[in-house]
Amino acid sequence: MINQYDYHCPKCNGKLSKNNQVVFTIKRDNNDEATMFLEAKPGSYKYECKPPINFTEKEIIDFHCPQCKANLKSDKYSRFVEITLKVNPKVNMEVFFSRVYGIHQTYVGIEDFEEEYGDKISKV
Ligand SMILES: [Zn+2]
Repeated sequence: MINQYDYHCPKCNGKLSKNNQVVFTIKRDNNDEATMFLEAKPGSYKYECKPPINFTEKEIIDFHCPQCKANLKSDKYSRFVEITLKVNPKVNMEVFFSRVYGIHQTYVGIEDFEEEYGDKISKV
């Protein structure tokens, strides 16, 4: 079992997790910007935004690294955010979660993700 979730930005390798939360800068189509604190446990969608934002259902949210500002959307699966989970100093796993508000999908590891959804999800 993983007790500590240590997430990193795949672009700059900066640490995204803090106090068992994952911290992102999020942006919306209307240029709203906020800091989002997401519970670190995969599959949990508890979050907090500062300032608070009322998202609309099915809205696509842009997640950015607070350090290098890179957009963290997956290159292959643009409806997902891709970040790196360091299980231990030698083992990294990709974690994918949905960028679409209200759609709760999280996958740990590219193999599981592609096996289950590679054919079914939109790659556009
Ligand atoms: Zn970064």
